[in-house]
Amino acid sequence: MNMPFKIGIDIHGVIDTFPEKFSRLASALYKDGAEVHIITGSKRCPDVEALLEKANIRFTHYFSIVEHLESIGETIEWRDELPYADEHQWNIAKRDYCKKHEIDFMIDDSPIYRETFHDIDSTYLHLINRERIVYSTR
Ligand SMILES: [Mg+2]
Repeated sequence: MNMPFKIGIDIHGVIDTFPEKFSRLASALYKDGAEVHIITGSKRCPDVEALLEKANIRFTHYFSIVEHLESIGETIEWRDELPYADEHQWNIAKRDYCKKHEIDFMIDDSPIYRETFHDIDSTYLHLINRERIVYSTR
């Protein structure tokens, strides 16, 4: 059996910035049998569910850095509703997920995560967004 095509898509600065384009992309890939992985920092909370539903994003998997770090016992401190955790563990979480799940393309707006993808097969597509909001939590 052929491996399905697998794409990872970030939310903040990506889906929330270009919702219609990513809705079309995700639908087209989903209909073609691809796995569409939402790969984000955020937990799958009601606000995120509402955002994805409003943007009409079809996806098959959801990965949250926060949920991942909690599951491996990392300490997460919340300040002003933003998570603070070990910088290295946070920064390699998307990379490790993409490696483990053999994601073909990861679309993300972060230049920091980009640097962690050089030694894995997943191809990092760095979305440039001039209005990018930088959450400096670490
Ligand atoms: Mg982002």
